Amino acid sequence: MTLSLQGWHLDETAAQLTLEVTATRTRVRCPLCQTSTSRVHSWYTRTLTDLPWRPYTIRLHLRVRKFFCDQPICPRQLFTERLLTVAAPWARRTLRLAQRLRACGLALGGEMGARLGHRLGLPTSPDTLLRLVQEAPTPAATAPQVLGVDEWAWRRGQRYGTILVNLEDHQVLDLLPERSADLVAHWLTQHPTVPVVCRDRSALYADGIRRGAPHAVQVVDRFHLVKNLREAIEAFLHEQRPALQAAAASTAQALTRVAGSVAAPSMYRGRHRCSQVGQHRQEAAQQQRHAAWVATYEAIHTLRAQGTSVTAIAAQLGISRPTVRAYLRRTQPPSPRSPQRSGQVLRPYMTYLIQRWREGCTDSMQLWREMRALGYVHSARTVSRFITRLRQASAAGWAPETQASPYTRPQGPSARAVSFTWVCPETKRAQDAQLYVDQLLQAHPVIAQAYTLSQAFLALVRERRGADLAAWMTETSASGITALARFAQGLQEDLPAITAGLTLPWSNGAVEGHVNRLKLLKRQSYGRAGVGLLRQRLMQAG
Ligand SMILES: [Zn+2]
Repeated sequence: MTLSLQGWHLDETAAQLTLEVTATRTRVRCPLCQTSTSRVHSWYTRTLTDLPWRPYTIRLHLRVRKFFCDQPICPRQLFTERLLTVAAPWARRTLRLAQRLRACGLALGGEMGARLGHRLGLPTSPDTLLRLVQEAPTPAATAPQVLGVDEWAWRRGQRYGTILVNLEDHQVLDLLPERSADLVAHWLTQHPTVPVVCRDRSALYADGIRRGAPHAVQVVDRFHLVKNLREAIEAFLHEQRPALQAAAASTAQALTRVAGSVAAPSMYRGRHRCSQVGQHRQEAAQQQRHAAWVATYEAIHTLRAQGTSVTAIAAQLGISRPTVRAYLRRTQPPSPRSPQRSGQVLRPYMTYLIQRWREGCTDSMQLWREMRALGYVHSARTVSRFITRLRQASAAGWAPETQASPYTRPQGPSARAVSFTWVCPETKRAQDAQLYVDQLLQAHPVIAQAYTLSQAFLALVRERRGADLAAWMTETSASGITALARFAQGLQEDLPAITAGLTLPWSNGAVEGHVNRLKLLKRQSYGRAGVGLLRQRLMQAG
């Protein structure tokens, strides 16, 4: 409708079809004064690449006209006709070709996008794709009513940026290259209408928001509150190792009562004990790891006592800020743990092995062959070791299911694993996890008390009862449970924003989703993408 075909030329050897085209309109409007005119001043030709008709590439020779403006008082005496639906001014591609290439670039980045372009018959270079992506207009951001602010990692533990998300429609509003109060303050002064800002618990963002949007209500994200509570629970449970271990044994018994045991088969060719040498080597490696943990613990606590900030400690020791905080929450260095990892490759198959065991199949070679048919690629020895464990459990009168559960290991589950179970809603807990919690609480009043307090906090979060927070803080501070009391006292520093977080419906869940997408985009560009490109891809590819 816009262009009319004047002639064409087919070059078979180059597989190229050239179309001579002109604009169809005879009258056009001056872009400045809007006066209509038909007086042509001159012509020139633009060459544009269009979508291919495979195997032919299509080239447009577009005759473009220059017109006189007939309005005497208009300062613009000559103007070039605009064909904005065909191609951007100065572009060498038609709009529809540029849009397809840009889509490749947005979805896959430069390298991979260019490769896909070649396969679609749209050959181009990675650099061209990246330029097209950079040039894409960013969607006009509407003034957000509820803003989510969080950090994202350029490189984990070393360099962070800031992501801003509209929490009403979940669109990314911007990506800032640093985790800095100044940048957040600056962004907010340019978007002065934002009434609510949701953030993590850092003083840094709190400060930036206060400066950039002094009247905005600050809301601490519930995700971060639950995360901090879980960390406090983990710190508390670290000091309860003997109890965690004891509960594992009673959980094995409870699980056996629920699942029922199976008698061990009488024929047993015992094999496979770890060689002495291998065992010594493992122990030496473990001692080295433990010595490193203790050294890190002491360095962090010393630096902190000298008044060094968490960020500075992290930079100095080359570890992440969350790791530094985890060490700071500890009141003593980590205890040595015995390494045991072999279960990882087997984990997806444990249910199957237990089912076969219950059916009476106890031959590990036979089971290994069956598992290979199911896609298992690891050694028969690992399977045989697990079958030995089932046999030993069976001889002790335990259900085979106990051997697939992290809650029944002889050394007990880690404090970290138990802390995650505590913050997980009861309805979503696995059976063995719930049995374990029951055993743990029955045996130890202090742990039961800590559990009750943490569940009460989670209920405040879930039911958004910000009004009851003060009472919870008073009770927990007086509980004598150091880690939880410290968590409760820490809430005091940021109380208005935390109360708002426990009262208002907003939460940074959408931000976490975008941070995860960002990780994927970074990986696709092999860590070479600048913030400009990441920003474009995140904001456009939605
Ligand atoms: Zn004019």
